Amino acid sequence: MRYHNITKDDMLNGDGLRVVLWVAGCAHCCKGCQNPVTWDPDGGLPFDGAARAEIFEQLDKSYISGITFSGGDPLHPSNRLGVRELMAQIKEKYPDKTIWLYTGDSWENILYYPMMKYVDVVVDGEFVQEKADPKLLWKGSANQRVIDVKRTLEQPDPLVPVLHCRDYEQVYIETSRPSAVKGCCD
Ligand code: SF4
Repeated sequence: MRYHNITKDDMLNGDGLRVVLWVAGCAHCCKGCQNPVTWDPDGGLPFDGAARAEIFEQLDKSYISGITFSGGDPLHPSNRLGVRELMAQIKEKYPDKTIWLYTGDSWENILYYPMMKYVDVVVDGEFVQEKADPKLLWKGSANQRVIDVKRTLEQPDPLVPVLHCRDYEQVYIETSRPSAVKGCCD
């Protein structure tokens, strides 16, 4: 596995404050991709012990909610094994931290990947420029889905995703009660 960056105290790629690993390698070639420099699986740097320690140092902090795998595509064939091994280590060392995964692949193609037992939330699907909306929560285009992996896999039919949250941050319900302002995951 190779990577381009590790960002810290990130608020844009999942719930809470997170550490984000931006891996190298993506074969989806979405029109309008904001990160084409990450497409080359041979780009960036080898993911080594120092990079792992840098991530663990962030996860040691109580205010960090967890890690997000992004890129590039963490499910590109060049990344799958490395990502799975790192997820296993993180879940063992930090069982209370959440793991988010962004991929251009569709839930229907990935739900049986062994690494899914470590993942809390998947944001799936290619970026579709015609469906892009900067107000969408945790995703770039409306076709993508923010999926609660554990609840989805517990269902009789795991092909039907249970969504982690709605598309927009707040939904205002017509009522006089001020408490009717609902968060995305209510
Ligand atoms: S899946 Fe993500 S990184 Fe890959 S081309 Fe599409 S938008 Fe870019």
